[in-house]
Amino acid sequence: MATNRVRFSQPTKDLLWSESGGHCQNPSCRIDLHGLVQHKNVGELAHIIPASPIGPRAAENPELSEDARAQADNVLVLCPTCHTMIDKAPGQYPSEVLLEWKRRGKDARALAHGTPVLATRTAVREAVHELLDANNAVFRLYGPADGLFDDARADQWSRHVREVVIPNNQRLLRLLTANRALLTPEERSTVDEFAVHAKELEDRHLRGDWTPGSTRFPRRMATILKDDV
Ligand SMILES: [Zn+2]
Repeated sequence: MATNRVRFSQPTKDLLWSESGGHCQNPSCRIDLHGLVQHKNVGELAHIIPASPIGPRAAENPELSEDARAQADNVLVLCPTCHTMIDKAPGQYPSEVLLEWKRRGKDARALAHGTPVLATRTAVREAVHELLDANNAVFRLYGPADGLFDDARADQWSRHVREVVIPNNQRLLRLLTANRALLTPEERSTVDEFAVHAKELEDRHLRGDWTPGSTRFPRRMATILKDDV
């Protein structure tokens, strides 16, 4: 008895509501959806790939199972206006764009609610250097080194970059963004350079973009927050 009205499980609805922070996940809208709670359970749950094989964006992934279509990673939380907008113009809002909205929504939530805003430079320094030390250990063990070409070492490097270094870089950038007021102007520019380096590292290891001439890890980052000001 297939029906086009997919029923989301309560855990899926809870997860989506929490992931969105109760705001529309369209980054140029972000309206507060709490007012809608009076009328509905959760804003509006918008399928990226639709429940029905003839819905908007259905042709982008026709093989996706019915079960996968009902999972949280295929659903955005939107206000009614944005939900109507994306479904009326699927060509303008392909799944690629909607997945990017979801990713940015998660980042915004992690920055706002999952990142401590600390009181002192010492506290920020400790948190930052714990992450930098962990990344440095990976670099010392497996990082690219002059005169050393070894496939197994390169495979280990790539694995640890994806599993350790990239997630730590994302935490570092959130931490340094949330606590930017405690940084000196020089440190802020170091962080901005580090953000470019971190993005290019992600482009290489997650998206296979090996454009040459990428920005190296800024040396000043290794001693950031060490000076008392
Ligand atoms: Zn909206």
